Amino acid sequence: MDQKTRDELLKLFKSKLNEAMKFYLETCSRCGVCTRACHVHESLPHVKYIAAYRAEIVRRIYKKYFKGQGKIWPSAGEAKELTDMALEELYEAAYSCTGCRRCMVYCPFGIDTQMIMSIAKLLLVGANQEPEILTLLADTSIEKGKSLEIFKEGFLAGIKNLEAEVIKKWKTEAGETPIPMDVEGADLLYVALAGAHSIIPAAAIFNAAGEKWTLSFFEAVNFGAFVGDPTKTKLIMDRIVEEANRLKVKEVCICECGTAFRVMKQLSGKQPFKVSSITEVHARYIREGRIKLDKSRSREPVTYHDPCQIARNGGVIDEPRYILRHLTDDFRDMSPDPKYNWCCGGGGGLVALGEDTLDFRMKSSRVKADQVKETGAKILVTACENCHTQLSNLNDHYEMGVEVRFLSSMITDALVK
Ligand code: SF4
Ligand code: SF4
Repeated sequence: MDQKTRDELLKLFKSKLNEAMKFYLETCSRCGVCTRACHVHESLPHVKYIAAYRAEIVRRIYKKYFKGQGKIWPSAGEAKELTDMALEELYEAAYSCTGCRRCMVYCPFGIDTQMIMSIAKLLLVGANQEPEILTLLADTSIEKGKSLEIFKEGFLAGIKNLEAEVIKKWKTEAGETPIPMDVEGADLLYVALAGAHSIIPAAAIFNAAGEKWTLSFFEAVNFGAFVGDPTKTKLIMDRIVEEANRLKVKEVCICECGTAFRVMKQLSGKQPFKVSSITEVHARYIREGRIKLDKSRSREPVTYHDPCQIARNGGVIDEPRYILRHLTDDFRDMSPDPKYNWCCGGGGGLVALGEDTLDFRMKSSRVKADQVKETGAKILVTACENCHTQLSNLNDHYEMGVEVRFLSSMITDALVK
């Protein structure tokens, strides 16, 4: 690596050094408590998969370039030079971590490995060594935001094709639009994923609840966050913020996508609208009597996988359980409880990398498969697209014998007049 590249990467490193980050980089006591907290290490016991070991690679580069002792006397300060080989180690550390933050809830100092890994990901972006596909997908999302007029017509035609399916799930009144688009003054803007499965059940529930809603032109997923590029993360998020402000909605409801929810909830700043996950909105409809569900339609034992970015990192824990009590008499919670729930093993962009990560995802998530099997449930419900894909892969790989379902589609199938 030449000096110019190193200097540019160190500038990126420095941009991440706020007070919280400095605390995380200067605090680890090497107590080892986080060792068994990580699903990767628990499933694949190798030192490189210990949370503190991952962080140590970043920490040593920090010591070398940002702390006095490391600059003067590298070996005493355990300082590490930023080289091409160091970048390879950072790649291995960052893309074997799902950013679930389970290690953080066990760490006595609350050290946030996901945040430390965000430095590793940013350095990889700066060196053009990040997974190319994630950057391509992020760029496509940004492009759509810039040239909406080009995409608009095709998108509207695609949405029109879904209307009959929505009506099949819930008949709308004469004159009502099954999937309203671009409605100024709507109460709620729904941001879905690309694909009918993310739009049809949600639309049926909004219509059943009598919601004044409108569908976003943009898909919720934020590939900028997966690849760890803060500029692209913000550009992708801002498309939705601008749309919400243009339509003057009171609430932005994010579909079943953990990362999209966390990015919008935590990074969108002070706005005239509130941000909710679709699970929170559905729980509210039930509580207010706006939708009614027939629990006799579900006869098999049900369990629920808490998506890390929605539950542990987003605080939505009680709502899915409240909904599930209206969907079944045989709900079996997993152990340990939601705050300490095992990650599905697909976050942090790993599912988006598809077949390339499949072998690692399966081997590193054995503990998740065991956790599901222990419930004896036959239906495994979740509220995140990434988790759904990963759990479906695990179901096949470990022959778990469950049906993996989205919470919103369970609700749609149980809707009664
Ligand atoms: S954030 Fe999750 S995947 Fe990453 S080190 Fe911690 S427990 Fe492991
Ligand atoms: S639990 Fe926290 S302090 Fe202990 S080794 Fe892990 S990161 Fe360091």
